[in-house]
Amino acid sequence: MRRKLVAGNWKLNLGPAAAAKLARQVALGVPGLDRPPEVLVCPPYVSIPAVAAVLKDSAVRLGAQNCAVEDAGAFTGEVSAPMLAEAGATHVIVAHSERRTHQRETDDDFVRKIDRAHAAGLTAVFCYGERLEERRAGRERDVVRAQLAAVLPRLASPAPANLVLAYEPVWAIGTGETATPEQAQEIHAFSRGIVGELLGNDAAARMRILYGGSMKPDNAVELMRQPDIDGGLIGGASLKAEDFLAIVRGAI
Ligand code: PEP
Repeated sequence: MRRKLVAGNWKLNLGPAAAAKLARQVALGVPGLDRPPEVLVCPPYVSIPAVAAVLKDSAVRLGAQNCAVEDAGAFTGEVSAPMLAEAGATHVIVAHSERRTHQRETDDDFVRKIDRAHAAGLTAVFCYGERLEERRAGRERDVVRAQLAAVLPRLASPAPANLVLAYEPVWAIGTGETATPEQAQEIHAFSRGIVGELLGNDAAARMRILYGGSMKPDNAVELMRQPDIDGGLIGGASLKAEDFLAIVRGAI
């Protein structure tokens, strides 16, 4: 059985002091739960050491929002996967739609980043999902298939133990518009089928596929109750401890 994962993507919010404060609130809220899912928070790079100190003895995991395609060298402004691991991260988000759009990251970048993350012992959270115009044109399945097929088979060591997928329909990110549980389940089941074709049925059965896109306390339970939705990647609602913890509680 796949253990649920609830991940907070704090994006470009919360410097070290504010991030440490929110991490402390999250860490205090998780142990009281009966059957807690795996919980992950992803602060900006600069806040990772402060959050790592807070989470040291807690069950809450720490992730970064990106990593470099190289481990070291003349790449001004970059932060590498081994550095993140040394700073206490266990996970890294790769291919978020905001990076696909604003930084124009490509499939080649994602392959290199995930391979660097795996070599450093990190679990990669690989995001994919269609844009509004693609859904309106009825092309969401083609887009999802293409995004998964462009990356997964090219990875050096893709496995459910070091890779989590996050289906994030771009039209639902930060818009307040959520995919219905049925829409999300349909694409999750379709994605799992693609993973089976690309990596084998055993990997498909064990691979966690998160949903991301305006997940909130009031829609999280229905979404995460779907058979192929294994948790959430949460942006806006992860910035308030009570909302994030309510979603964590809904991950049954
Ligand atoms: C995200 O950025 O991954 C995300 C899902 O954001 P939001 O929850 O704000 O839609």
